[in-house]
Amino acid sequence: MQPHAAHSPMDHASIVLREVFGFDSFRPVQRDVIASVMEGRDTLAIMPTGGGKSLCYQLPALVFEGLTVVVSPLISLMQDQVRSLTAAGVEAVVLNSSLDAQAYRDNMSAVSRGRAKLLYLAPETLFKSSTMQLLSSCRVAVLAIDEAHCISEWGHDFRPEYRQLASVRASFPHAVCIGLTATATPRVRDDIASSLGIADAARFVASFDRPNLLLRVKDRERPIAQLMDLIGRHEGRSGIIYCSTRNRTETIARSLRERGLRAMPYHAGLDEKVRRRTQEQFVRDDIDIVVATVAFGMGIDKPDVRFVAHHDLPRSLESYYQEIGRGGRDGLDAECLLLFGRKDLSTIEYFIQQKPDAEQRVARLQLSRMLAFAESTICRRRPLLDYFGETADGEGCGQCDICNEPQPELEDITVDAQKFLSCVYRTGQAFGSGHIIDVLRGSKSKKVTGRGHEHLSTHGIGMNRDATQWRQIARQLVQHGLLVQDLTHGGLRLGEAAGQVLRGETTVQGRVCAPETSRKQRRRSSAPKPALVHDEALFEELRRVRKKLADDAGIPPYVVFPDRTLVEMAAHWPMTEPALLALHGVGATRLARWGSPFLDAIRSWK
Ligand code: ADP
Ligand code: MG
Ligand code: ZN
Repeated sequence: MQPHAAHSPMDHASIVLREVFGFDSFRPVQRDVIASVMEGRDTLAIMPTGGGKSLCYQLPALVFEGLTVVVSPLISLMQDQVRSLTAAGVEAVVLNSSLDAQAYRDNMSAVSRGRAKLLYLAPETLFKSSTMQLLSSCRVAVLAIDEAHCISEWGHDFRPEYRQLASVRASFPHAVCIGLTATATPRVRDDIASSLGIADAARFVASFDRPNLLLRVKDRERPIAQLMDLIGRHEGRSGIIYCSTRNRTETIARSLRERGLRAMPYHAGLDEKVRRRTQEQFVRDDIDIVVATVAFGMGIDKPDVRFVAHHDLPRSLESYYQEIGRGGRDGLDAECLLLFGRKDLSTIEYFIQQKPDAEQRVARLQLSRMLAFAESTICRRRPLLDYFGETADGEGCGQCDICNEPQPELEDITVDAQKFLSCVYRTGQAFGSGHIIDVLRGSKSKKVTGRGHEHLSTHGIGMNRDATQWRQIARQLVQHGLLVQDLTHGGLRLGEAAGQVLRGETTVQGRVCAPETSRKQRRRSSAPKPALVHDEALFEELRRVRKKLADDAGIPPYVVFPDRTLVEMAAHWPMTEPALLALHGVGATRLARWGSPFLDAIRSWK
């Protein structure tokens, strides 16, 4: 890369941004972070997942003389970045245990001969004496610690090897140190700065709002149908479905495959080789959907994930946020759907009870924040951003189900509440809502008759509502404190104010969805609108061109060009190289390497 004659370092940075990365502008906090690093100040960058942290050290690396050392916890993350940098014409290498001896030597020599601008490694490789020796002979300009929260025991992903990074920092006193993380809590942020020995570092915190994520929460009623509906809105695109158990990832992946979808399970119990293959297939668009436990995550930097679904309630808003953060990293819209089943609460409570007392309190608090989000009746971004200490716009975001979808008016559900409460009372305040609903709906099942519950006066008085509606009513009675749920067994008993309702002294306002039959006829809700009007068929054709090029080169399609570039091609129909160069994500190297097959496809398109 030839340095350009430019007025200021930031002008120079803007040119590199355009010519190498093909981006028009910095994202808000990126500019500040990069300016700080280029002034030689130690810097801590706190930006949400997908916020563009990598660029904060990749770009200075190209402007500075000398080497940028990037410490990253996962091999797959490093390889992904090296692939993308190489595709953009940047000399970047990785040193880790996955390389064979020859490749390792080649990469060492690329560093010692000063050819590599960036060197990626895991902390354990950095501590090796051969590495330290190599680095002592180079000029290390920047030391970047990615996923820096791994250094903190208070973080959600503590890695003991990260602890030793403090001493490494001391070995390169002249290098600028930059720590990067998406961690939300102030405690971890402080911990990172002090552990890295950069307590005085300039700190930059980006907003945790991700406006391109459409947030939706639905009662989990018929999960497969609900997931199919979601997938149908993003046909042939990449998505992740999170489940709380390994078993469930397998059954759901199987159901989806039986319906003709390219879906695979992913969890820690699977063989390492199988997991790697699934991840690779996903990254290369050979499968569309991964059904996973939380084990699937940090190694995934795939930018074009169009939906993230949660089959089960996450344990905390922090983990939920990190998981949905894997959607829409390229800045295009992605849909996040949480299927909320109150049954999950008893499972979570069970796990909480296995913890030591002190942790139980924290876990319950986290759960309550999660519920504030899941059961919100106001814009979902309020409870979400509130968690990160930010205040959401008072107007509402226009990108969540509460803001976008007609919310049913509150109606008077006093009579239904009385029926339900008295049924709870008459069955002895020991059963979960499933049994109560069976009794209300007049079931003659063994479970009902075995207890003589078909003789109760409340048997069959609830035919006016279907089971789904009753479940919804039950949840609201719990929310209002009229019922108290035993979180271990799920049994319901009357809450304090229940008597007043039963005696008709107060009314209950609530929401009840339409009955089953009309729900089935309801039209599919429309997909979030794409940002740019473009020719869908051409876009699909360009995806095929990209897939072929990627397969031939043995790299993921998004490394060739991101989706956004293809969308812009299908909107602007560039016919010449300069026209192509003007598009998002097209730099000089990518243009030279991959421009012409796309130009051909566009020229011959009618
Ligand atoms: P993070 O590490 O913060 O999760 P990444 O560095 O992986 O995020 O970047 C996420 C996506 O954003 C990538 O696809 C990247 O190419 C894109 N990106 C980063 N900076 C910009 C920018 N200034 N303009 C456009 N896209 C960007
Ligand atoms: Mg990152
Ligand atoms: Zn909203």
